[in-house]
Amino acid sequence: MLASMNLLRPIGALVLALGLVAGCQRGSSRRPASQPSYGQAYPPYGAPQQGAPPQQPGYPQQPGYPQQPGYPPAQTGPVPAPTFNVPTMPGLPVLGDPINDINVSWLQSEAGVVMGALIGALPAASQQKVRGIPFIADPTVGEVNAFAGCDDQRMPFMAITDGLLEVEAQIAQFKATDEIFGTRKLDEFLRMLAQRQRPGQPIVRPPAGFIDPVQHTDPRKVERQRQLYHEQLAFVLGHELGHHHLGHTGCANGQGGSRGVTPADLGRMLSRTLPIFNQPNEIAADVAGVNNLLAAGARQQGYRWTEGGAMLTLGFFASLDQLTPATILFAFEQTHPHPLLRQPVVQQTANTWRMTGGAPVFTFPGFGG
Ligand SMILES: [Zn+2]
Repeated sequence: MLASMNLLRPIGALVLALGLVAGCQRGSSRRPASQPSYGQAYPPYGAPQQGAPPQQPGYPQQPGYPQQPGYPPAQTGPVPAPTFNVPTMPGLPVLGDPINDINVSWLQSEAGVVMGALIGALPAASQQKVRGIPFIADPTVGEVNAFAGCDDQRMPFMAITDGLLEVEAQIAQFKATDEIFGTRKLDEFLRMLAQRQRPGQPIVRPPAGFIDPVQHTDPRKVERQRQLYHEQLAFVLGHELGHHHLGHTGCANGQGGSRGVTPADLGRMLSRTLPIFNQPNEIAADVAGVNNLLAAGARQQGYRWTEGGAMLTLGFFASLDQLTPATILFAFEQTHPHPLLRQPVVQQTANTWRMTGGAPVFTFPGFGG
């Protein structure tokens, strides 16, 4: 497994620098100007949604919730995230889309863009701890995971495997297809993985034609899958970044990042000789990650990230676990708490974020924040 480690290469500094200014707004040049934009499907925070009854109050004005700093607000039901509105007008087919093509270089560089947006949206004290941190692409075949780690000099780095990037891209495109065309492609993909995926092997790819060719290149599906790809990564990376700026790794102190991650560094992470699993820290990192992604999403000019990507990723791994109860296919399942435990944390954090207008006053008692 570690033989390919010398292929590790940073996708960090340059991409991150771009990410700070570029956010995740991708060009929509393929879409005719007359087409509805997904970016407009979510109204500005607090504004009534398109098509929603005008008397619905915005999230922050929910009556009956006294704001008690330091205590979780009373929960009488979930505060809904904005819903995704499917545009009705199809457009010209999109040829050569990097998610449709599973273009790993593009998937990596977009991860760098998301990382830049997350770091840019952190509170100053947290941002100072992780600014300039290297971000490593790990090509280990069949490895599906993301890491916050320290190198031999106790310098921090972040890493994500190509396998996790590919899985997130596939989830994004099958979910986008399901949302727009009412298919069940994500379920089909899950069953395919459960039957055919083997640990340490390349991620199983559905055959050509798995998605109807017209649906596959539909510009609404292509744009939606990009949103979902970024939104899922924002949670995965926001969580790992949280381990650094919350002090769990102990090596991110604003002294800059690792100047060269060796294969041994990631090997240590993969073999789990570092103490990387700690339930209170995992919950705290989920809370931090959700707050970070929502803050970063609020800065986006088009589509604003919600907790939907987090729920999607966690739902995917929960379903996979249900389908393969006796098998650990991906390391992601081993190094994080069960996704069904994480989903309520994500949802409650996001609800609180909206109720407080983005002030992350809520931490799970006893779990820090
Ligand atoms: Zn974690």
